[in-house]
Amino acid sequence: MRKQILLKGIPAAPGLVIGKAFILGSENLEVPRRSIPESKIPVEIVRFEEALIKTRREILDIQKKITKEMGTRHAQIFNAHLLVLEDRSLIEGVISRLKREKLCIEYIFLQVLKKYIKTFSHIDDPYLRERLSDIEDVGKRILRNLCGVQREILSNLKEKLVIVAYDLSPSDTASMHKEKVMGFITDIGGRTSHTAIMAKALEIPAVVGLEEATSRIKTGDTIIIDGTRGEAIVNPDRATLNKYKRQGEKIMRSERVLLKLKDLPAVTRDGHKVDLAANIELPEELSSVIAHGASGIGLYRTEYFYMNRTDLPSEDEHFAAYKKVSEQVKPHSVVIRTLDLGGDKFLSQLDIPHEMNPYLGWRAIRFCLARPDIFKVQLRAILRASAYGKLKMMYPMISGIEELRQANQMLEQVKEELRRRKIPFDEDIEVGAMIEIPSAALTCDILAKEADFFSIGTNDLNQYSIAVDRVNEKIAYLYEPTHPAVLRLIKNIIDSGHKENVWVGMCGEMASEPAFALLLLGMGLDEFSVSPAAVPAIKRVIRSVTLEQTKYISEKALTLTTGKDVENFSKEKLKELTF
Ligand code: PEP
Ligand code: MG
Repeated sequence: MRKQILLKGIPAAPGLVIGKAFILGSENLEVPRRSIPESKIPVEIVRFEEALIKTRREILDIQKKITKEMGTRHAQIFNAHLLVLEDRSLIEGVISRLKREKLCIEYIFLQVLKKYIKTFSHIDDPYLRERLSDIEDVGKRILRNLCGVQREILSNLKEKLVIVAYDLSPSDTASMHKEKVMGFITDIGGRTSHTAIMAKALEIPAVVGLEEATSRIKTGDTIIIDGTRGEAIVNPDRATLNKYKRQGEKIMRSERVLLKLKDLPAVTRDGHKVDLAANIELPEELSSVIAHGASGIGLYRTEYFYMNRTDLPSEDEHFAAYKKVSEQVKPHSVVIRTLDLGGDKFLSQLDIPHEMNPYLGWRAIRFCLARPDIFKVQLRAILRASAYGKLKMMYPMISGIEELRQANQMLEQVKEELRRRKIPFDEDIEVGAMIEIPSAALTCDILAKEADFFSIGTNDLNQYSIAVDRVNEKIAYLYEPTHPAVLRLIKNIIDSGHKENVWVGMCGEMASEPAFALLLLGMGLDEFSVSPAAVPAIKRVIRSVTLEQTKYISEKALTLTTGKDVENFSKEKLKELTF
């Protein structure tokens, strides 16, 4: 029996599961044969180069870790892997076949790789035979990076498993089926990466940023994932296993108790009512939203609509999805957020060039304003669907008033077109701005004059205020929504909105944390939009306190000097006040 190992990472999605590990990357990869037009050849070459760079980075990371733990001698094995990445004949072989055959790069690469493996396996020389496994290993890594991982594998698992991977993209996570993927853990990633958000949405327990999960775990190992504490226990002994089984039963019991609040309103003990809505990324999550007792959707992330497909969604596809969601959520409202791609969400069907700083780059509303051909399709569909329910819409990543005006101008053009064509839509549709960039947070008084509402995106607001990449596990300790700077910005957003009669919500992950919800309530937040599974816990907080109590808590919190102090203080108060 192998020894028990405890790995600590970053909690990504709560819950506890015990299951058998499956290391992604240990399987045989197959890719579809897809033709590409001549004009797309440069794009495919860039994708290939990016995959090589990413693979190199991964190998260097592993090498560094092994050096630290086992010494340089063991780490030197990976020098051979790095050499494969520089093998000119391999690289040139791929590029010349790509130009000749005009097939997608992953297919071409796999064919070249197979040919190499075949040639090497016929050679008797033991040194060269050794190189065969290096080529195979690195080749699979490159292929995984090219495919944006293993969608097919993730969506076609034959048994229930715990997935262990170096990294998973948000679209990989979106393709997981809860019935088969019990939970997942990754070497890299942060708490509010879109991969983590997706795991929460699908209610799949997950821990990210474990650093050495793929090097310490083998397929078939038994794993306990504690997504709430951010831990993975590999090959637990009997006593540990029993302890966690008991804990799992306890969690289920307390979830059942919380669900009893489902049909009760989100109102404080002194009668202050707030809107408690849910965030969704896929229309399939609607049943979970209803089951957890949310009153509407405060953030419908529409990027996932564009993922895991090779073409762009048509206006009618958008329309059908938005109409369905708004009809099912009626009489509550649905806030649709317009396309926010970029950052850690990429779409292969759009030829977006690689950027040095994708989080500071051509993202969200910036991309949409530059591509009215794509943006207007979505705007038209939202407006058309607004005739069937209570729809609102908001723009992501607004950095200042000009962007809001430009977006509204495009919206006005689309409205005009619909009026001309006599297509019905809600003339009074509310249009809001996400406030997730410090420049917007500090100019909310200006924005409030031209927006119907604000929705605070703390996932990005934190990242940009503290200069801390939300997906980087190495600096995750700096990622504090309770940092005094972030609290002051939030307070400013709420106050500036209220001065102009603009309601203010929050759809960032901060609103899903019970202790932080106390602070936000006290600051005057009007709407909380949280992951569906978090709705009952936040409702319990709201129903346990008076508005007066929370005002005192937020005022005190704003005088504290560190994020840790604020966090400890609000957790203490939560314990004291909730029942
Ligand atoms: C946010 O930034 O807080 C937010 C809700 O948007 P996203 O996580 O999709 O960037
Ligand atoms: Mg955001």
